[in-house]
Amino acid sequence: MYKMNMKAIFISSLLCMGGLANAQSYFQQEVNYTIHVTLDDVKNELTADESIEYINNSPNELSFIYMHLWPNAYKDNSTALAKQKLENGETNFYYSKEIDKGYIDQIDFKVDGKTVKWELLKDSIDICKMYLNEPLKSGARITITTPFHVKIPSGEFSRLGHIGQSYQITQWYPKPAVYDRNGWNYMPYLNQGEFYSEFGSFDVSITLPRNYVLGATGDMVDGEAELKWLEDKVHETEAIEYFNPKELDFPVSDNATKTLRFRQSNVHDFAWFCDKRYHVLKGEVTTPHTKHKVTTWVMFTNSEGNLWKNSIKYMNDAVYYYSLWNGDYPYNHCTAVDGTISAGGGMEYPNITVIGASGNAFQLDVVITHEVGHNWFYGMLGSNEREHAWMDEGINSANEMRYVETKYPGRKLTEGLIDLPGDLFGLKKYGHKYQYYLTYLLSAAKNEDQAIETPAYDYTELNYGGDVYSKTAVVFDYLKKYLGDEVYDAAMQKYFEEWHFKHPMPGDLRKVLERETGKNLSWFFDDLINSTKKLDYKIAFVNKRDDGAWDIGVKNTGDIKGPVIIYGIKNDKPVGEVMYEGFEGKAMLGFPPADVDYFKIDYPENMPEINRNNNTIRTHGLFKKVEPLKLQFLTGVDDPDKTQLYWTPVGGWNNYNKWMFGLAFYSNVLPQKKFEFQLMPMYSYTTNDLAGYGRVAFNFFPKSVFQKISIGATATRYAYSNAPFDMNFNKIAPELLLEFKKSRLRSPFKHTLRYRNINLLNDSYSVNVVLGPGSDNTPTYKKTQDYININDLTYTLAKSHAVQPYSLNVNLQQGEWMAKLGLTANYSYKFKNKNKSFDVRLFAGSFLSNDLAAAGPYRFRMSGWRGYQDYLYDNIYLGRTETDGILANQFTENEGGFKFYAPNGQSGKWLAALNLKSSLGNIKLPIGLYADIGTCGTDGLLNDQTLYDAGVYLSLRKNICEVYFPVLLCNDFKAYKTANGLTYPETIRFTLNISLINPFNLVRNFSF
Ligand SMILES: [Zn+2]
Repeated sequence: MYKMNMKAIFISSLLCMGGLANAQSYFQQEVNYTIHVTLDDVKNELTADESIEYINNSPNELSFIYMHLWPNAYKDNSTALAKQKLENGETNFYYSKEIDKGYIDQIDFKVDGKTVKWELLKDSIDICKMYLNEPLKSGARITITTPFHVKIPSGEFSRLGHIGQSYQITQWYPKPAVYDRNGWNYMPYLNQGEFYSEFGSFDVSITLPRNYVLGATGDMVDGEAELKWLEDKVHETEAIEYFNPKELDFPVSDNATKTLRFRQSNVHDFAWFCDKRYHVLKGEVTTPHTKHKVTTWVMFTNSEGNLWKNSIKYMNDAVYYYSLWNGDYPYNHCTAVDGTISAGGGMEYPNITVIGASGNAFQLDVVITHEVGHNWFYGMLGSNEREHAWMDEGINSANEMRYVETKYPGRKLTEGLIDLPGDLFGLKKYGHKYQYYLTYLLSAAKNEDQAIETPAYDYTELNYGGDVYSKTAVVFDYLKKYLGDEVYDAAMQKYFEEWHFKHPMPGDLRKVLERETGKNLSWFFDDLINSTKKLDYKIAFVNKRDDGAWDIGVKNTGDIKGPVIIYGIKNDKPVGEVMYEGFEGKAMLGFPPADVDYFKIDYPENMPEINRNNNTIRTHGLFKKVEPLKLQFLTGVDDPDKTQLYWTPVGGWNNYNKWMFGLAFYSNVLPQKKFEFQLMPMYSYTTNDLAGYGRVAFNFFPKSVFQKISIGATATRYAYSNAPFDMNFNKIAPELLLEFKKSRLRSPFKHTLRYRNINLLNDSYSVNVVLGPGSDNTPTYKKTQDYININDLTYTLAKSHAVQPYSLNVNLQQGEWMAKLGLTANYSYKFKNKNKSFDVRLFAGSFLSNDLAAAGPYRFRMSGWRGYQDYLYDNIYLGRTETDGILANQFTENEGGFKFYAPNGQSGKWLAALNLKSSLGNIKLPIGLYADIGTCGTDGLLNDQTLYDAGVYLSLRKNICEVYFPVLLCNDFKAYKTANGLTYPETIRFTLNISLINPFNLVRNFSF
């Protein structure tokens, strides 16, 4: 688009790298492409011819070459892309229609004009192995040619695609995999996991209808007419005051076509984007060191046009600051286009980036800057992103964080995101930077984080953001603080200087940083990058010396010997700081004479401190380490300077307490804390008594065997009857929950073991009727209490899956009179329509003791549990002891899980049942069909050996509130219905799992 002779710069920089490379036995292949491609915007196809010059600079002879054919990633559900998307819970590709899928075909590889043998890899149809007729000697070159045809997939899935006639043509041509120091690096295309490509040059000619605006990698060749046309677009765009986001129709394509040619050297990929609706703006920025002039372009639709009209400034700032901190941008243009991409907020390609919807000006600036920044960390420093994602995404995020700090000093975390009245969530004190730390902490607090140096495909989706992007940004910020900006910048610039247009590995970066700074950075590379070890320093005490200086006792309670920085704070402003090299155990650190209120480790939050609660000590007062109590409404982010207590008003109703009101107090919910509590006392004006719920838990996150050990207890008290007087049940259940470590964090299987000791102290009564002369025979009631104790052990295996999840649950209960075992299996098939699913539940249970009489209240129930049958007092019933009326028809779908209520099928021996449900998936009327079939020990059967029922259900909220209308009943059920004179409405039952919508879960969902 803008031409200038760059050859001289490139050649000289390549020459000076040559000597260095030899010394390290470093080599890199050179791959030069010539492609002619035509876009068919009716069939959404590309037809192309490609010629690849492949130069073997390796010391080895090559007899084959791996080629990436990445459009095949969109071909069917067998590809790595399809599997990864499903694993990450996305079903859009899995259920996609043939017309929306994509592929590459019509390939006919020739090497130096002769046909060669090639084959797709058996387990990866987007990679092929091409056999050379003769080995390619070290230092020799070949020309590989092929025609190819690409069916462009829908842009909903990943990075290559079209949304209507808006085209994002990326990862689109046959491309040799990288052959480097480690051998062949062939890899299937993935959404989560980026790229690794050989450097070389591109000469690409693109033919498309004349009225498309096209942005691409490289400089336009002989493009004067096109450039003039774009300049006219710029003038038109500059004259537009308001971009109507509703006007997004595609103009009709011109019958006439144009061919645009682009050339670029020293890049490792070529992408292009075109849209007939694009507005265009153009700018220019001069790089700070070499004063090289870079043309900046932006191309955007009306969609967020009113934000994009200011975006040239963002482009210029991004190019300027990245050049300033890392080294100058050497190419002639830098372009950003607006595109709806599903792979995330934006995506980088050499010279050109594509940006998704951003919502506000600040976010647009940040995303543009991040993507432009990839020209350094990805584009020029061509690391293997699949294996070392942090080398591009992480270091780039550190630069992005610095950009925000530089350009928007004092910017708050919440600005532009949420406009809350007052300071509802206590978020206002945090700066923008805190979000990086917080996203790292979300997993790290649970010991579920992953080392920064982990292959991209091994990360959980949460950790890919929290560790690769955020933690890396935080640790590089920490390194910068430790080294000082000057030393840090000089070292990073040296890294850029030595490694641009090359393939640096983590060891190469470490070598440069340690050499340039003269520091041993093992705490940084071995611990912060290569491990999940945690950093935690604690201030134990402070003493003032006679000369006014301070002695501060600091203890390293973490696993990393990173530098520690202590700030003296007066009137909430830092008045001094000292930095010490890291140490193990305890150390006495000096602080020069200063008038301070308190000392704090890492006041500006540069360190990945896992526990900030022990970072502060006051210089006077009685309780130097006790943090002031802070009452906070609803919820918020953990504030390390305060002991937080959240509260919210709560209310409840049941048939005996009637209305209850109270307050809930609870510890913070995010990030996960070691000590958690929830207290929800309520007062009933009907029973004039207290009711409610409470829970405490201590959580441990060990390094092996268990992911989480939770020791705690719950307490529950509600009224369950008003006659002959108000009676309560009181339940206290100590609990041990063990969550086993997964074999790998991405594994869909989760094993848990839970033990509870359920203690019930329930109000009861004895009746006394005095008979005889003078008595009116009125009974008198005496309040008594029943004590029940039950051991409850549950093992659960759950497999999460976007289409076919299942779980298996084994439960053992043991009490004074009984021991029973139950097995529940759940399987679900989820259809494309998110509201439609087919659910199968299987239950089998047996008493281990054969004392039928003793089984009494504990018998297996074919019809699930009514309120008074819930002998564990686990579920919340509006009318726990009702036997008729609507409240008696609330039930829990456990044991037999039948929807029709009948006492038939209550067995003191054994019971087995199968429950089927199929929702019909109509959003306006969420209805479905159900069917149950079961049998049980003979003590529970009347005439039928097998019981069944079927009907229609209305799902107001799946698994929480569902209403069942019986249609088909077995003979025993019919007989029960007739014998009891039940009307149809009396046979309609419903579930209401209030415990699943407890306020703490709501808070948890609401807060993030
Ligand atoms: Zn990125």
